[in-house]
Amino acid sequence: MARRVRVGGGALLRDMDAATQEHGLAVPAGEIGHTGVAGLTLGGGMGWLTRRAGLTIDNLLAAQVVLADGGVVRADTEEHPDLFWALRGGGGNFGIVTEFEFAAVPVGPIVSFGLFFFGLDDGAAVLRAARETIPHLPPTVGFQIIAVTAPPAPFVPAEVQHRLGWAIAVVGTTGSTPDPEAEQVHERVRATFPERLFEFCTPMPFTALQQMFDEGNAWGMHAYDKSCSVATLTEPAIEVLAEHVARKVSPMSVVHLYTLDGAYSAVAEDATAFGGGRSPRLTVFLIGLSPDGAGLPAERAWVRAFHRALLPHAIGTGMYVNAMTADDADRLRATYGDKYDRLAEIKAVYDPANLFHRNANIPPAG
Ligand SMILES: Cc1cc2nc3c(=O)[nH]c(=O)nc-3n(C[C@H](O)[C@H](O)[C@H](O)COP(=O)(O)OP(=O)(O)OC[C@H]3O[C@@H](n4cnc5c(N)ncnc54)[C@H](O)[C@@H]3O)c2cc1C
Repeated sequence: MARRVRVGGGALLRDMDAATQEHGLAVPAGEIGHTGVAGLTLGGGMGWLTRRAGLTIDNLLAAQVVLADGGVVRADTEEHPDLFWALRGGGGNFGIVTEFEFAAVPVGPIVSFGLFFFGLDDGAAVLRAARETIPHLPPTVGFQIIAVTAPPAPFVPAEVQHRLGWAIAVVGTTGSTPDPEAEQVHERVRATFPERLFEFCTPMPFTALQQMFDEGNAWGMHAYDKSCSVATLTEPAIEVLAEHVARKVSPMSVVHLYTLDGAYSAVAEDATAFGGGRSPRLTVFLIGLSPDGAGLPAERAWVRAFHRALLPHAIGTGMYVNAMTADDADRLRATYGDKYDRLAEIKAVYDPANLFHRNANIPPAG
């Protein structure tokens, strides 16, 4: 089987997941079904499969691109290799991608989902236990730490609904039921983490997992987010996380820590334009969400103060380019580091007049 996937420039993740799952395959991507494949891919693309199979860009084989001068080209390692490099992390700066060609990996159709929920006051202990667990994670497992207000969902006990707390999410992708590698992590969580308020562990279709959080992230929400990465959960970082999570106002606001290592870190630093760095890390997303504009200023202030406090404990001051807002433009150089100048040179070749500028913009060199 060739395991090649061709995806149109306007497709959503849920479209791609539905089509690939018909063949027991998936392209490693993000975690929300209504995210666009294009924007997510061009900035990197991370989700449940990243530890196992790398970023979305690590699985990109080629792209068809409409350039600023109207020309249409195919970019891959043979044709326009500089453009192909830049597309893998450099965002929407270089042209309009009308088709992506990906290598897919065998996944599901059933995966294992495990959610363990802990009280707010146990935050520091949960983070310490996670720090000890991460180095022992099997390679096929996705692992996230999430600070979240428990939703009024059927799998959440009534007395825990609407309570702010810390969750550990474990996704097993071996395809076996039960999933031996995920079970191993579940056992460790049960044995070494604080007393949990509830757990919810179940096999589910990969396509359901990929749309599980869509409702909480519905289109039309007012949002403000920032990100940074920490190499590990040091005591000072834990202190900041525990303190600032407790200060969020909107029940919808959430903090995600994605564990990135394994296949993510097996890719050479300069193989793509990705701005994040490839050493093992936790990428922290601070996401302020409000159903209306009136609630947004409080969430924005929360995100900004949280980010300021966490930055001294982070790997550099760069940010995941897909989590940047307009006021993060000054962080682009820090995000791309040594790659920035090469990106600006490539921009000068493919878009010298900066036609594509409504993005995390890299102006053309010169
Ligand atoms: C609810 C939510 C959940 C998310 N979850 C994840 C996650 O799990 N993992 C992750 O990695 N990221 C995640 N993200 C971040 C996401 O990757 C970025 O928001 C990304 O920009 C979304 O792309 P889009 O195509 O949906 O958005 P759009 O707003 O359509 O596009 C964003 C930018 O991408 C560029 N672009 C879009 N389409 C094209 C194209 N065809 N050709 C060239 N450039 C193009 C343009 O510069 C555009 O400004 C999430 C974001 C949200 C809002």
